[in-house]
Amino acid sequence: MACVFRDAFLDRHRANPTAIHTEILSQIRSDLFDRVNFGISTRAETILEFGTPRSFRANEDRYVVLDPYAYLTAINGHSRASYNIQSGRIFLRGFHWCISTLIHETLHSVSLFTNDIPTGNLLFLNEGLTDLLTGFLLFKRYPPCFEKWKLNNDNLCNRGNDYLEWAKIWYTFFRFVNFEEIVSLYFWNNKSWNEVWTMFIEKLAAHGLRFDNIFYGRNRDSLKDMFLNKCANLWRRDFEALFELEGGDFDFNKCARSVIDDQEYTRLISEGWELLWEEGNKKIIKNIKITQ
Ligand SMILES: [Zn+2]
Ligand SMILES: [Zn+2]
Repeated sequence: MACVFRDAFLDRHRANPTAIHTEILSQIRSDLFDRVNFGISTRAETILEFGTPRSFRANEDRYVVLDPYAYLTAINGHSRASYNIQSGRIFLRGFHWCISTLIHETLHSVSLFTNDIPTGNLLFLNEGLTDLLTGFLLFKRYPPCFEKWKLNNDNLCNRGNDYLEWAKIWYTFFRFVNFEEIVSLYFWNNKSWNEVWTMFIEKLAAHGLRFDNIFYGRNRDSLKDMFLNKCANLWRRDFEALFELEGGDFDFNKCARSVIDDQEYTRLISEGWELLWEEGNKKIIKNIKITQ
């Protein structure tokens, strides 16, 4: 069965695309990071649609629906949508996509990885985190599409198997590491690329995941393999078992989190959560019990 959400959503998008884009941005702000900014502004460019030039001005039209044929030839082959790092625009192939696609590309456009950097070797970080955060927003806001995304069984709401595996690794990682710790660094924050990137890498290192020479001499999977190995070394069987048995759950209620309220803390501890560390009046807790 197709995603029950899609037809109504696409109709809403046809009627008022700007309202939908604004809605997604405000959801990202309220659920993930309140100071969301686009990584770069849009540049002027012209694209041929059936031989007819279609021009876009600088600083306008962040989201562009292209005729499927124009998309195929001018943008990115057979993908459903893509974020173009040169022009700062999100291109969509006709209406062959769902809200998961729109969220994924919007996240790219506001992430630290939008800056013009060689992301070839960083797919695991860039696409894996983007995909996981897409799942998080779907989980919170769009349950019908979330189910399709999670099971990867609907051709317009799903994603490649690589992405699924990367998201599973990040999801398992966040069973041990407070979501907010890394997530706030994923978003573009008007700092220099070097500064944000260094903070991002240092934050991972603070959790024992030290990457040496992250950019060079590695194939598509080596960064992922290194990450997986380090996680398995750090958290031993706990990580492997959670990844194997619950990696595909994407139940974001199980991710490590911070609590301030004492009553809430006592309740969660009685349910099997454990204290990871305390920070001011915040307590960071994790729950790595396997529930199946
Ligand atoms: Zn992507
Ligand atoms: Zn969907």
